[in-house]
Amino acid sequence: MSSGTILFEPDDRYNAFLTVCNHAPYGNGKLSGIAVAVKDNISTRGIETTCASKILKGYVPPYDARVVELLKSSGAAIVGKTNMDEFGMGTTTENSAFGPTLNPCDTGRVPGGSSGGSAAAIASGMVQMALGTDTGGSIRCPAAFCGIVGLKPSYGRVSRYGLIAYANSLEQIGPMGKTVSDVSTLMEVIAGYDRHDSTSHDKPYTHTPRADIRGLKIGIPQEYFGAGVDPAVAAVVRSAIAKLEELGAASVPCSIPSMEYALAAYYVTCTCEASSNLARFDGVRYGPAADTKKSWHDAYQEVRAAAFGTEVRRRIMLGTFALSSGYYGKYYAKAQVARENVRKDFERIFSEVDVIAGPTMPTVAFRLGEKSDPLSMYLADILTVPANLAGIPSISVPCGRAGGMPVGLQIMGRQFEDERVIDVAYAYEQAVS
Ligand code: GLN
Repeated sequence: MSSGTILFEPDDRYNAFLTVCNHAPYGNGKLSGIAVAVKDNISTRGIETTCASKILKGYVPPYDARVVELLKSSGAAIVGKTNMDEFGMGTTTENSAFGPTLNPCDTGRVPGGSSGGSAAAIASGMVQMALGTDTGGSIRCPAAFCGIVGLKPSYGRVSRYGLIAYANSLEQIGPMGKTVSDVSTLMEVIAGYDRHDSTSHDKPYTHTPRADIRGLKIGIPQEYFGAGVDPAVAAVVRSAIAKLEELGAASVPCSIPSMEYALAAYYVTCTCEASSNLARFDGVRYGPAADTKKSWHDAYQEVRAAAFGTEVRRRIMLGTFALSSGYYGKYYAKAQVARENVRKDFERIFSEVDVIAGPTMPTVAFRLGEKSDPLSMYLADILTVPANLAGIPSISVPCGRAGGMPVGLQIMGRQFEDERVIDVAYAYEQAVS
């Protein structure tokens, strides 16, 4: 096929896109002519990149993120930038400064977040594939809520050069798509070493999904079916696991005791990293111009109060407090101990089983506006944050519906065994489709 241009004029009734590239050029390669959407926290040369924040409104990066370079060299057409929670902070995409994205399965509900625009663009058929980012569930949650597939790769498997950082020790860029094969294909394009990202590993992904899971051992943690998990969601996921058993896998009950502290460890860690990462947004280099006649401190304060949303300000304050002298040991240091315990729990379980399975989210998609207090929103991340704390790969694959809304089956694997979680998801998908 020769190179050309995709004319992209989507009927975006879901507010999935913040920027649309009507004439998206494509080249030759694995993804030749395929429309791919990119989350708006990933830098795209010449295309506005805002992180769904007013503080970056009008910012046009002078360079491409590594994953964007790779997309382009695989022939993909980058057709637009997708909506998200501001800087990735949220679970619904309602924290976007440019209005929420709606869930294509029910427009009265949220698509999940923070990669809600990418999930909605796929679920509605506007694109075949998209890139998302996952710091504490932001690929898997919207995949589950919108009925699509999303992979959070192992930490270090995909370069983050050009990703606008929220919480570096936790986040990964990853593939989203309608099918496991699409996700696997996109992963082949984006994975691998990059000298511009010191955390990237030389672990390219060249894999064709295999549906044979005979003899596989699947750990089923009791905490993933415990308090706070909607019984209707748990039932759908249990029958998906029964399907995997029919295919020749064996399930093994297990426990992750450190989950009691996982959510707290996650929220202390991510807010601390955010307070440091977001300090650079000062209204001098990006965003609404600061009043240079004022003192630096007054100008900085004014710009940030006006241009950051409520949730972003809340997290900067929480993180700054937790890192402040006298409190560091009480919060940040303790969170790192809890994080290490999560990692050790996974290590112990993975000495006995090949993968771990459970629901991706404790409920189906919320109604718009339903989660009005921050704490109840944070609680929804309980089943996704452990994989980020431990750096392990985790995929969400649609496994049925509860109350008419999609439910996601989450499959986690050992670090750098992304191929295996893909295979289990593929086996399930093939068996039910
Ligand atoms: N909901 C989580 C948070 O708000 C996860 C977000 C993400 O993965 N970017 O931090």
